Amino acid sequence: MAFPINRRQTRQIRVGHVPIGGNAPIAVQSMTNTDTRDVVATTAQIHRLEESGCEVIRVAVPDQAAAESIAAIKQGIRIPLIADIHFDYRLAIAAARSGADGLRINPGNIGSREKIKAVVDIAKETGIPIRIGVNAGSLEKDIFARHGAATAEALVESALRHIDLMSELGFDQLKLAIKSTDVRQTVSAYRQLSEKTDFPMHIGITEAGGLYAGIVKSAMGIGMLLAEGIGDTLRVSLTRDPMEEVRVGYEILKALGIRRRGPEIISCPTCGRCQFDLFALAEAAEKALMTRTTPIKIAIMGCPVNGPGEAKAADIGIAGGRESGVLFKQGKVIRKIPQAELLDALLKEVDEFDD
Ligand code: SF4
Repeated sequence: MAFPINRRQTRQIRVGHVPIGGNAPIAVQSMTNTDTRDVVATTAQIHRLEESGCEVIRVAVPDQAAAESIAAIKQGIRIPLIADIHFDYRLAIAAARSGADGLRINPGNIGSREKIKAVVDIAKETGIPIRIGVNAGSLEKDIFARHGAATAEALVESALRHIDLMSELGFDQLKLAIKSTDVRQTVSAYRQLSEKTDFPMHIGITEAGGLYAGIVKSAMGIGMLLAEGIGDTLRVSLTRDPMEEVRVGYEILKALGIRRRGPEIISCPTCGRCQFDLFALAEAAEKALMTRTTPIKIAIMGCPVNGPGEAKAADIGIAGGRESGVLFKQGKVIRKIPQAELLDALLKEVDEFDD
């Protein structure tokens, strides 16, 4: 039997129409990598991300023009938008006035209490939450000096300091992130912080890397935290098209049985019994099924003798052969199909399942 996941009870906030924390589904986020000032390109990328299941999008706001672009971008998108602000509190004010649904700041690099208060004031006025994003790369100097390095404890101290400041300013619409590039350090920091506060957590491994390293580090770090019930929203950070981030985010949630979106594809690694190019078939199926949203378990197996039995857990499956393969459901062979028609037959069955 699978081990239970006892989700940590956090308070709930809202980013636009998306609830974060409490019993809300763990939301999948991403960040655009277009120039935010380019409204057409940024809106187009957000549309593609919406289609792949992204539920909250963050955009970089490096200058005033980017902050002002948010108004036009918001006109063309459906999901809530978070403005990512570093250093200049005036950009946070401009982004909020442009209609951002949330602000992401690292108070450590925003500056004086007055500047942070100005950000909090605009968040209160516009009714939007703030994500406090503590990052190992930008820790306050005094905390860094006391700990001698950006340790998990140092990250937690920084986060708690910012929470206290927000509380002094009378603001509690907060979401916390406390990321580093090191998996064990990130996990340790989130664990410690979770013991000390019930604000919702945004989890991820920062700058996790390219496809292989990024997926492995994210799956390890995010996966460990989710398995312990920590995390209310997540972002997989990859040096890739952000669509891949969303895809990996859902795969992590699916792998832990937390959320299901779209097909879960089971496929065998092949062995000497496989008589056709299973890799190409599995890749073509993955591509064709990428935008489907109905949760369904699909198996794509390398031989009709062992495949159906090995993939009994699948709702629908195909197992190929040299000339022909089979279509099966819950391990039972339904019919024989010419090899060249296997993929079409599978897609047709998935369409019927969707209905
Ligand atoms: Fe080998 Fe067939 Fe099992 Fe695939 S399904 S690993 S081809 S025995």
